[in-house]
Amino acid sequence: MTGGPAEPVLSVEGLEVHYRVRVPGQRGKVTARAVDGVDLVVHAGETLALVGESGSGKTSIANAVMRLIEPAAGRIVFDGIDLVPLRGRALRKMRPHFQMIFQDPFESLDPRRTVLDTVMEPLVINGIGESADDRRKLALVALARAGLTPPERMGARFTHQLSGGQRQRVAIAAAMILEPALVVADEPVSMLDVSLRAGILTVMADMRDRLGVAYLFITHDLSLAWMFADRIAVVYLGRVVEEGTSADLIDSPAHPYTRALVSVIPVPETSRDAQRTVLSGETPNPSAIPSGCRFHTRCPLYRELGEPARCREVDPMLAEVHSVVGGHRAACHFIDQQGVS
Ligand code: SF4
Repeated sequence: MTGGPAEPVLSVEGLEVHYRVRVPGQRGKVTARAVDGVDLVVHAGETLALVGESGSGKTSIANAVMRLIEPAAGRIVFDGIDLVPLRGRALRKMRPHFQMIFQDPFESLDPRRTVLDTVMEPLVINGIGESADDRRKLALVALARAGLTPPERMGARFTHQLSGGQRQRVAIAAAMILEPALVVADEPVSMLDVSLRAGILTVMADMRDRLGVAYLFITHDLSLAWMFADRIAVVYLGRVVEEGTSADLIDSPAHPYTRALVSVIPVPETSRDAQRTVLSGETPNPSAIPSGCRFHTRCPLYRELGEPARCREVDPMLAEVHSVVGGHRAACHFIDQQGVS
C-alpha cells in the first residue's frame, strides 16, 4: 500500500476541528477550536503517540484522521491521497487501509454477535475472500494472532461472554484482518485492568512487527507512550507543542508543558532531575484560547522569566531543538533558557 520505507503513510497538514458549543453566561453558541492547526507525519511501520490531557484535542485529531468527523480546515493525506474531499464510494474504497481501535471494548462490539462473525465482518463488507469458508479461515488466523486461542473455540463465543481484555483482542483482530497500513488506537488499554494492559500492547507490537502496520497511538499516559511509541507528539489545547523521538522527548523535554509531564512520570531511572513540576490550573476552554502562547496561563517558565510580553502576544511556532537524532521540535520562545542540551 505504501510507496516505500521513507514515504509517510499519513501526513496531516494544518488540521483544524471546530465545534459549536454553549458557554455559561454567553448567549448563543461560540466556536471551540478543539484542533487548531496540527501537522503530523507517520511513516510505514512506525508508532507515533499523541499525548495530552483530557480536552487537549487528541481524540478529535484521531476522529478527523478516521474521517468520523469533518475537519474545519487542513489536509489528511493517506498514502498520497487527501482524504478530506473524499465522499461515499471513494472514501469507502480507502477505508480498509486505515482502521481504528476504540477505547471502550464493551461499547465497540455488538454483544449479540459471535466473535467469528465480528472478525469476519470487515471481509464481508469489503467483499474479500472467495467463500464463507475462506473468510472463516482468515478470521481464525486473525484470532490466533490476537492471542485468542484456540481460535475455533473463541470464535464460537458471543462477545458479551468475554472479559474486557478478550474483547479488546477481538477488536484488534477485526481491525487487523484487512492488514491495514495504519491503525488509529484511541486509548486502547486505558479501560482495562493494569494486569491486562501489557498483553494487549504485546499483541499490538507483534502486529506491527509482523504486518508492518503503523500506529497513531492516542494516550493521556506519557510513560505508556514512551514504552510503546517510536515518536511522541505532545498536544496542548489543540496544538502540538513538542515532538521528537520517544527517547529524546523524555530525556530532554524542551517545552515547559512536556517538562512538567515528564517530571511526574513514576520511573526513577530517567536522566531527568527528580524535581516534580505540578502545573497550576486547568487547561483553558478551547472556545477561549489564550492570546500569544496558549500555555502562558499555566507556564512555570513564563512566571520564572517575569511574565515577558512576548509570551502573551506572539504565538510560538514549532522550532528545531538541538538533538542527536534530529526531528525534535518545540513551540516555545525560550527553549534556550531551559538548559536543553
Ligand atoms: S513561549 Fe512563554 S509561555 Fe509559552 S511555553 Fe515558552 S516560556 Fe512558556
